[in-house]
Amino acid sequence: MKKIFSIILLLVVLITVTACTVFEHEHELTHQEPIPATCEKDGAIGYYYCKGCGQFYDEDLNPMTIKSLNDFIVKALGHDYRFDSFVWSADNQSAEAKFVCSHDSSHVRL
Ligand SMILES: [Zn+2]
Ligand SMILES: [Zn+2]
Repeated sequence: MKKIFSIILLLVVLITVTACTVFEHEHELTHQEPIPATCEKDGAIGYYYCKGCGQFYDEDLNPMTIKSLNDFIVKALGHDYRFDSFVWSADNQSAEAKFVCSHDSSHVRL
């Protein structure tokens, strides 16, 4: 039952896309490169946009429904510190655990 539903949905999508392309206009898509999110900064998804009809498409050219600007935002990842190694003091008397962020090895925490 679920499968039938998704096939119907697919058909509806295909018909909609075809109808738009054939009867309305040739989409003129401009591509926006994705902006990767970092540990501390939000990024943005990549997308295609047709200014003729105002339709957004994802990078696989599936039509997207955009409700707000938030739909474009990729949340900052947050640091993902993982144990890397022990860092010994100069006199070799003590050691500190060194943690390195798995997203960016320049993010180090002792
Ligand atoms: Zn269009
Ligand atoms: Zn990080």
